[in-house]
Amino acid sequence: MTWLWVALAAHAEPFTYLAPGDLLPGSGFGDRTERVLDPELTFPLGEVPAHPGSQLYNPGGYLGSPPWDECTASNFRYPWRDTYCERRPDRRCHAGVDIRARTCAASLHEVVAVADGTVSQVRDYFVTLVSDDPHRTEYRYWHMDPAVVQVRAGDPVRRGDTLGWVSNHYSTRTTTHLHFEMRRKSPSDVSRFVPPYPSLVASYERRLGTSGRPVVAGVLTVEHAFDCDDGITGWIWPDAQQQEVRVELFDATSSRALDAADVTVACAGEQPCVASFALSVPRSHRDGQLRRYGVYAHLGDVAVGVGAPFVAVWEGADRCIAEGR
Ligand SMILES: [Zn+2]
Repeated sequence: MTWLWVALAAHAEPFTYLAPGDLLPGSGFGDRTERVLDPELTFPLGEVPAHPGSQLYNPGGYLGSPPWDECTASNFRYPWRDTYCERRPDRRCHAGVDIRARTCAASLHEVVAVADGTVSQVRDYFVTLVSDDPHRTEYRYWHMDPAVVQVRAGDPVRRGDTLGWVSNHYSTRTTTHLHFEMRRKSPSDVSRFVPPYPSLVASYERRLGTSGRPVVAGVLTVEHAFDCDDGITGWIWPDAQQQEVRVELFDATSSRALDAADVTVACAGEQPCVASFALSVPRSHRDGQLRRYGVYAHLGDVAVGVGAPFVAVWEGADRCIAEGR
């Protein structure tokens, strides 16, 4: 069977990752600190590959981009993307990193202890582990099914021990993933969240036995504005070369595409690459009803840019009210 393993290894997708704090456009501002706070961290999933990335804004998420299916292949591809401090609908900063396992199946992929330590809490939605390190780092694991969690409060654990399985357990609907948090005490003895992403990248590289490659996303910044006559106009900025992009306006409640525009992003000399687009709201939506809308940029079936979601009312052909973003 050796030849098969060689063949598989040769075709394994190389590990690539986006920089710390490089969140999906329109999903808030992350923490760009590159410091690996825990250089000994064991990767929290027992199996690779694994895929940190947005749950909320990617396919299958509450504010997600189409297609609306969390099992969509683009959710399970490199590069990794940080979600520490990703914006929540109530504008809170997301306190951890969300990690999808190898597949979207619940209660199949093992979650392990990232350090030697003691399980300090087992609650309905999360398990907390306090490490033996001098920082007494707290690691919190969310969304495992409590019926099959393998540890109890007070249990000592060694790094790599099984804690449970990746699931989607929460008070509201969520996708199948592990939400992973780290907390440390500051010099003034206040326990606070710290960014786990650089430590996760380093732990994953050790797990794979190879270095990953930092990449700049083929992502686009999507900005848009309202004009009652013209609908939604905007601009997109990619990071690099010329490319063909489809920009779509969605009714975020019905998940229905309302309009689309194919644009070519052009780069000229020293100028940044840019393209403008115009989308319009169809007559069926000019009925005085308040609706939530979203603007997405796609390369093939991969969402590469997300505009800020907004709520608006269109009345007739030329009157509209934007209720905010
Ligand atoms: Zn999360």
